[in-house]
This record gives sequence, structure tokens and C-alpha cells, in this order.
Amino acid sequence: MGTNISSVSDGINSDAAKITGGENISPGQASFNDGLIKIDHLEKTYAMGDVEVHALRGVSFNVVCKEFVAIMGASGSGKSTFMNILGCLDKPTSGTYILDNINVGSLSRDELAFIRNKKIGFVFQGFNLLSRTTALENVELPLFYNSTSTKLRKEKSIEALKKVGLEERIYHYPNQLSGGQQQRVAIARALVNDPSIVLADEPTGNLDSKTSIEVMEIFQKLNEQGITIILVTHEPDIALFAKRHIIFRDGKIISDKFNAEPNKASEVLKTISSIDDEVKV
Ligand code: ADP
Ligand code: MG
Repeated sequence: MGTNISSVSDGINSDAAKITGGENISPGQASFNDGLIKIDHLEKTYAMGDVEVHALRGVSFNVVCKEFVAIMGASGSGKSTFMNILGCLDKPTSGTYILDNINVGSLSRDELAFIRNKKIGFVFQGFNLLSRTTALENVELPLFYNSTSTKLRKEKSIEALKKVGLEERIYHYPNQLSGGQQQRVAIARALVNDPSIVLADEPTGNLDSKTSIEVMEIFQKLNEQGITIILVTHEPDIALFAKRHIIFRDGKIISDKFNAEPNKASEVLKTISSIDDEVKV
């Protein structure tokens, strides 16, 4: 297993290895190259009273642009902790994280927030939509942190909602939408700032299987358009749509393999539709 990890990482690292340091580059000036994420010996320890929880125990991981990575592993293996650090929502206890040539560890809180808003879109299992606001307003939210005009905010949000096929539902409230539609609103919200990466933590965990594949179809389309996707899932069927599989156990990566032939969600959906049709007949 160890040989696999290093051989796969070596292949991936060939571009990412070009990134060195980057400490002096401020967020807005980062040059974009193929090595998007470079993580080295990341550790995260939570202090729970007298007890220390070692959620991550030395994770090294590189991602180049346009990858589609599925992260798997048992509950408690450190996946969400890792995603939170990747998404600049949390800082590691030790180790380095370089994102687009920027050493994230050296950034202030404001700079972290800037990077997060500019480069990363988040999708969560529970959708995390504001219930008293429309689909459109939910998608507009990240733009309030930038000085985007009201008009542009609306235009960009409608454009993002179109990308997920929800242009007919922009004035609906979350409780007027199905689970799949709510997750698509959340994906539109993740896209509204044109991120280079979308991070999704169990995005299909609350959805039925057909709706889950529809969500994967959207992620595959976004990936074809050049967005890097990193998603956590515990469903092997969902991981089959990704191009690379990483398995966590006890805060470490124990397997890292390419998936040479990912399933195509649009094709799988066609077969499901025909089964549905047969059932109706
Ligand atoms: P996963 O997403 O794979 O289920 P997590 O990253 O959520 O795993 O958790 C990894 C470990 O860290 C678990 O033992 C969990 O209890 C612990 N943990 C996660 N978040 C916190 C926190 N905020 N404070 C203390 N312990 C935490
Ligand atoms: Mg989790």
C-alpha cells in the first residue's frame, strides 16, 4: 500500500513540486500554475480539556488544477478536519499548506478570509442555506463580502443559478425546494465568486441515489470547465465519479490512487431514467 501512495504522489507532484515557499506573495498577486495545492506533514491536534485528540497525524497531499478527488474513510478519520484546513476555515497545528503559491500558514485572519472568498467554494452535507431568504439571496451572500454592486450581485447570482439549472426557482425559499434543488442552490452559492476549487463535505449524504448522481453530474460539468473538485464521501458509488481516490484512516492517508475510468454521471442518469420509465409502464 505504501508503494502505491508514494508512486501516485510522485506522479502528481511533478507539477506541484515547482511551487516553493511563496511567503512573499500577497493573495491578489498569486500567479496561477498547475500546482494548486501542496500540503506537507499536516497535523491537527484538538485540546479537549486534559485530552489531546490527534485528528490529523502528518498528512502530505498535492493536487494539480482540474483534478477531481474523492476523499473516503471511516467516521472520525479526520476528513472534515482536513477539508476545513484546505478551505482556510481552520489552521493546522503544524505542517505547511501552500495554495496557489501562497503559504497559507503565514497569512493573517483577513488574508485567509480573502483567499477563502476568492478561490474556494464550499458545499456541505446539510446545504447550510438561510431559510428565510430566497435562492437568489442565498447565492448572493458571498458577494456581500466584496464590494460588488447590487446589480452585478444579482447578475452573477442568476448566472450561477443557471449553471445548476435553477433559473426558474430563483425566488423560491429553501422549504419550497426539494433536497436536490437546495443542494444545487448551495452549489450555485459556492460558484458565485468563480472559485478555482470547490470543496464538498459529504454533499450527497442527505440525498437519494438519483438526486445524488444529478449532483455528481453538476460537479463533473464544473470539473470539465476547469474547476478543481475535492469531495468527501463515504459512498463508494459516488466516489466512482471522481478521478482520484484518497482514503483516510486515523488521521493519515492510507491509500491514494487514480481512477482511470470514472463513471459518467450523465450516462448513469440515462439508464436510471429508463428504469423509471419501465416502472411507470
Ligand atoms: P471525519 O470527518 O472523518 O468524520 P473529523 O475530522 O470530523 O472526522 O474528526 C476527526 C477527529 O477529531 C475525531 O476524533 C473528532 O472527534 C475530532 N474532532 C473533530 N473536530 C473537533 C473539534 N472541534 N474539537 C475536538 N475534537 C474534534
Ligand atoms: Mg466529517
